[in-house]
Amino acid sequence: MGFATDAIHAGQEPDPSTGAIITPIFQTSTYVQDGLGKHKGFEYGRTSNPTRSAVEGNIAALEKGAGAAAFASGMAATSAVLSFAKEGDRVVATEDVYGGTYRLFEKVLKQYGIRFTYVDSSRLEQIERVMGDDVAMVFIETPTNPILRITDISAVAKIAHRHGARLVVDNTFMSPFFQRPLVLGADLVSHSTTKFLNGHSDSIGGMVVAANPKDVDHLHFIQNAVGAILSPFDSWLLLRGTKTLALRMERHNASAMVLARFLSQQPKVAKTHYPGLPDHSGHELARSQMSGFGGMISFETGSLDNARNVLEGLHVFSLAESLGGVESLICHPASMTHASIPEVDRQRLGVSDGLVRLSVGVEDLEDLQADLEQALERL
Ligand SMILES: *Cc1c(COP(=O)(O)O)cnc(C)c1O
Repeated sequence: MGFATDAIHAGQEPDPSTGAIITPIFQTSTYVQDGLGKHKGFEYGRTSNPTRSAVEGNIAALEKGAGAAAFASGMAATSAVLSFAKEGDRVVATEDVYGGTYRLFEKVLKQYGIRFTYVDSSRLEQIERVMGDDVAMVFIETPTNPILRITDISAVAKIAHRHGARLVVDNTFMSPFFQRPLVLGADLVSHSTTKFLNGHSDSIGGMVVAANPKDVDHLHFIQNAVGAILSPFDSWLLLRGTKTLALRMERHNASAMVLARFLSQQPKVAKTHYPGLPDHSGHELARSQMSGFGGMISFETGSLDNARNVLEGLHVFSLAESLGGVESLICHPASMTHASIPEVDRQRLGVSDGLVRLSVGVEDLEDLQADLEQALERL
């Protein structure tokens, strides 16, 4: 089946007891058993829940995985992924991973004896240089946030596998509509479903999809053992969200392409970062491993004052953290999403005080462009 058909149907059957076309919210903590050891596959709500199973089956199909496990947040999903690493193992990670991921690695997991090495994963030679027998996992994000650097997924998969390590890709920014890392050779895909997958800014959640059935079993074990599961209601919201994923991603992408071109032509914008622009450093790679460029853009206004002027001058774009919802958002990475990263590292990663990031929503494109136009006039 095609992507949009799977997005609407995969993992879901009409409810056998009523025929309801939509999978119900099974808001229950336990399941009555017919006799000792005789049950319908569900014993306790932490271990499994039919609404959660449906959304896991749905997203596993979209990512072309063997199975998936849903978690209470993107960060819970990332910590489940890191449960594949043990004390003494090293993890090689993209240097500009999501700030919360960096915090989890540095402030939490380091305490348990897992070590982290950060590289610019868009440069393969940097990954090669730090690989070794102790590396259990390569964890990449592509495109990165907020500069949108692109890493070659299939090349990194080959490097990781040559060293007996798993490749994990945080696919939050692209969603499986534009990028399917498991097809390119990755072992695990993680998502903050809070963003494009749910798409309506009304739920926090995470998902891990695995290529290997044994890894799926481990993830379900972690759900049960650690307990950071996605609730029945959030599972239901997420199922509703993925039904329109194809439509939404097409619109995010089409509008972002127009706005990125528009911004790149503005004399008051020093630099526009969008993988769909031919002058983007990862443009060719993006064209080959993604089927679209997504809804995220960042651009350089030149100074903190300019950034503030733009942010405060917008009416349709709302100033907020997060991304991937139907409504357009703008944020200031240096003081918001990336505030926990030391100033020197921020400068090196290009997260300057004048940089702003857009999550282009699905409103009328004319309104979005007019909004940016009038805000830039304030500079
Ligand atoms: C938001 C985000 C996360 C964390 O997800 P939460 O749902 O907020 O816990 C992880 N990775 C990326 C790329 C994100 O954008």
